[in-house]
This record gives sequence, structure tokens and C-alpha cells, in this order.
Amino acid sequence: MTEIPDIIIPDSMRPSDGRFGSGPSKVRSEAVAELARVADGYLGTSHRQDGVKFVVAELRNGLLEMFNAPDGYQIVMGNGGATLFWDAATFGLIENKTQHLVCGEFSSKFAKAVAAAPHLGDPDIIESAPGTAPSMRANPEVDAYCYPHNETSTGVALPVVRPEGGDGLVLVDATSGAGGLRFDAGNTDVYYFAPQKCFSSDGGLWIALCSPAAMERINTIAATDRWQPAGLDLKIALDNSLKDQTYNTPALATVFMTLQYTKWVNENGGLDFAASRSDRSSEILYGWANNSDYATPFVQDEAIRSHVVGTIDLDDRVDALTISKVLRKSGIIDTEGYRKLGRNQMRIAMFPGIEPTDIEALTNCIDYIVEKMS
Ligand SMILES: *Cc1c(COP(=O)(O)O)cnc(C)c1O
Repeated sequence: MTEIPDIIIPDSMRPSDGRFGSGPSKVRSEAVAELARVADGYLGTSHRQDGVKFVVAELRNGLLEMFNAPDGYQIVMGNGGATLFWDAATFGLIENKTQHLVCGEFSSKFAKAVAAAPHLGDPDIIESAPGTAPSMRANPEVDAYCYPHNETSTGVALPVVRPEGGDGLVLVDATSGAGGLRFDAGNTDVYYFAPQKCFSSDGGLWIALCSPAAMERINTIAATDRWQPAGLDLKIALDNSLKDQTYNTPALATVFMTLQYTKWVNENGGLDFAASRSDRSSEILYGWANNSDYATPFVQDEAIRSHVVGTIDLDDRVDALTISKVLRKSGIIDTEGYRKLGRNQMRIAMFPGIEPTDIEALTNCIDYIVEKMS
């Protein structure tokens, strides 16, 4: 193991908050304070009674507002995060054949879950190299098109569109994009996410914005004799959600903090407010990298360069992991690149809850370390 250089960042240079991880991500202190304020009457109370049900109802309505959802769309929720939603989808949302756009770790995982499901056909997989994005190709056999809004492992944001000429459902993994990237909800049938990224809450919950066609699919499959484990049964999740409940006990703190983020965004002008904060942060981060003589944005095509998760390659003179370790000693954390990508890279979350001025401070801190090391 190489020594970590003994460089301590001066207090005056440090960001106001040192959390730059892409998930779990910075939780806004305001949300935690609000949770503490209401805790005695909320935490530890029944999720089948009004106290919690009102919070769930407010969250479901707030999300429809934030996403500017077309008439008839509904918010469905369940336990287990985005990964469990993939499993639920293999049981209750996919008839037989999917198409997957695969461009990194997360998009590949859903494709693998479908490929492993014995009751489904082989998925049609369209793959592209890390740092790029593939496009859909209409296929009459496909009943569900699947892609991420933001591939968190590489920092690529995909356009939320329907396949031209295809008529399957469109299932968008928005775990790191939802609440931070603009999109047209009418182009999706299921826009699903877990709230530990942009939503500045905690993990363990999945939330899905569902179109009428998606709910019809859920009901149709539930009426067949396909076996579905109850905990992954989307019909059960849908029926409970419409009553502002979940099938089994949710993490009440997670639900509450997700609502706090939703209210913060809606009260400040909606998704555009949130997305503008990430736009500003990404301008700062990529602007810095473009002007730096040792850093470059990993994603070449600006049109798909993510505004919520930035990936920055460093040249050979500077070891990215060493920089992240030095930052960590000063309380600036989780800037490490995605391990499996295996690049000399830093990955920096720019979710709306992160202050753009903190992104600027971070870039100054990185420059400071590189200068001290050279
Ligand atoms: C983080 C992430 C997931 C996994 O979320 P879990 O809640 O941990 O299951 C899935 N997809 C994307 C795009 C992610 O960023």
C-alpha cells in the first residue's frame, strides 16, 4: 500500500458539507431537523393509521406534481429499493420479452435479472461502451423497453424517450436521475427510483410513477396463473399504494425525508428548480475539468454528460484514488470512482441537495492537493 500523503485541507477551503457520494448521498440537514421535530408523534407509529398515511398521501401527490404527471398516472411504492423493483418487474410487469439499453453496472443488472428469470424469454440487449449511450431499436416481440435515466456508474444521462415504432411499455430506472433531471413523464410507463440519491433520503424503498398502461399490465399479469411472491407482487403493491399504504412496514424515516425533499423542490418552483441547481454544479465541475491540465470529463458527448453524477478522468501523473483518500482525511468523502470501471477517475455527485458552491470548493481542494503533491 502506498502512503497517503499527509496533506490537510485548510478549513477555509473546505466545502460546507463534505458528502459527494453518488448513493447513499448527502441528506439535507433541514430534512433531518424536521424529522427530529416531529419524531415523537411520527416515528414508532402504525403505518396503517392516519399519521403515516397522511405523509404517504402527501408524498404521492407531491411526486405527481414534481413530475408533472399526465392524468391517470399514479405513484406506487414498496420495500426493497430499485434492485427489488427489478425482481418485482420480472414477475409483475414483463410479459415475456424485454429490450435493455446497457451502458454500465446498473443497467446491466436489470438485464441479468430478466435473463435469469425462467418464465421470461431471452432479453434483447443493446450494449455500448462505458461513457457512451446506446439507442433503442423497435422490436415487435418486445413488451417492455428498459433503460436508466442516469447510469450512475459512468455518469451518462440518457434521453427519456419512447422507441420509435415500438409499442411496449417504457420502464426507466431513474434511481439517480429522478428529482434532479428534467424529463417528460408522458414518455414513460414506469419511472422508478429509490430515494437515497437525488431525493436526499435513505435507501430501502422503491417508488414508481406508473402510467395507466403500466397499471393495466400489472392487473393483467396478476390475473394469470403466473406465481408471484407476495412481497414482490406489484398488484399487491399497487392496491396498497392506492390506499396510501405499503404491503409491509416501510422505514418511516425514509418516507418522511423523501417527502421533505419533495416539498423543498415543489415549494421552490418544482423540478426545474432542482435541475437548475444540478446544471449549475455540472457547469462548475466540467468547466473546471476542461480548464485543468490534468483532469478531463470522462463522457465525451456533452449531450449525454450527466448533470447529477460527474465522472472525471485524471491523467497518469495524478492518482485519483490517492486524491480521494487525502480528501477523506479532511472529511470530504465518497469521491472515489466506480470500482468496476477500473479507471483513474473520480466520481462526484451533483445532486440538487448539494450546494453548487460546494462543488466549486471541492474542485479547489483537488487543485490544492495536486499542487501540494507535485
Ligand atoms: C443506486 C442505483 C440502483 C440500486 O439502487 P438500490 O436502491 O440500492 O437497489 C439501481 N439503479 C441505479 C441507476 C442506481 O443509481
